[in-house]
Order: sequence, then C-alpha cells, then structure tokens
Amino acid sequence: MEMYTPEVMISEEEIALRIEALGQAITRDFDGEELVVICVLKGAFIFCSDLIKKINRPMTLEFISLSSYGEGTQSSGNVRLDMDITCNVEGKNVLIVEDIVDTGLTIKTLMAMLALRGPKDVRLASLLYKPSKLKHKVKIDYLGFEIEDKFVIGYGLDYAGRYRELPYIGVLNAGN
Ligand code: 5GP
Repeated sequence: MEMYTPEVMISEEEIALRIEALGQAITRDFDGEELVVICVLKGAFIFCSDLIKKINRPMTLEFISLSSYGEGTQSSGNVRLDMDITCNVEGKNVLIVEDIVDTGLTIKTLMAMLALRGPKDVRLASLLYKPSKLKHKVKIDYLGFEIEDKFVIGYGLDYAGRYRELPYIGVLNAGN
C-alpha cells in the first residue's frame, strides 16, 4: 500500500487549543445573539465542526461551496459559486468559517455577495492566513494561525482532493 507522511506544521493539539480560544471569543462577542454559521466547503468542514462545538450560542449551520483553485496549488484568479446557502440571511448575524485566506479573493467575493443580502453583521473566522500572498484586503475577526507561504494540507485542506483526513496541518513535500 502507498505510504505518505507529510511534515507536520501545526499539530492536532495546537489546533485544538487555538479552537478552544476562538470559540470562547466568539461566544463572548455574540452575547445574547443568534448566529448563522456558514461553512465554506470543502476545506473548512473539519475546522467548522470542531469550532461550533466550542461556541455556546444558538446557531444554525449552512454550507457554501466556492472554488478558485481547481486541482493545482495556485489560485486561478476566478471564484465560482458551486453551491449556495439555503437560508435568508437578511437581518442575521453571519459567521463565515473558512479554511485559509491566501490572496483573499475568495473571501472578498463571498463577503460582497453576502452584503447584497442585507445581513445585520458578517464576521470571518479563518483557521489559517498566509500574509505573504494577500492581494485583497480582508478583515479576519477570528484567526487560528498565521503561516508562511507554503502549500498546506490536512485538517480539511486538500491537494487534488487528497489529504483532507489528516488530523494535523501538514506541508506537502516532493515525493508525497
Ligand atoms: P484565496 O481566494 O484567498 O486566494 O484562496 C482561498 C482558497 O484557496 C482556500 O479556501 C483554499 O481552498 C485554497 N488554498 C489557498 N492556499 C492553500 C493551501 O496552502 N493549501 C490548500 N490545500 N488550499 C489552499
């Protein structure tokens, strides 16, 4: 059987600790409020499922699917809406949960799209942020980790559809 051991960048334990802190901050900031959590598929699905367990507020969960990368490791520069949410966010507090902000194009596009629907507030939780690649300014309200410019995989993030199941954030090396 084929074996692979991508190098660990952020361990399972570090991720869990950080998510606990993010959940506490979100719980505090949305005191007395309800939330619509929007999980950006596919990459944010593990982060989102762990994060919502640490948010002690009434919420509903929605999924949205956007693509900008295709099968490679470089952004294509275009964002396509593959699947939309199923609820009306007008007058609601929205928390977008994203895996990684790289150039910022995906989030900027999503924020602009949601703004047209009249939400009360839109905030962003992103597990990762690569400042060196940022082209479009975005405000990350709840950030997991700032990372260097390496293509990362695991904990929901893929390379050509693979590696999402890794419990840690890893770096794809030649030969994996
Ligand atoms: P942006 O639009 O900010 O350039 O890119 C955001 C999307 O690109 C992320 O949601 C993610 O799907 C993908 N992406 C950016 N950097 C990486 C990376 O290092 N690893 C993986 N697996 N996906 C990435």
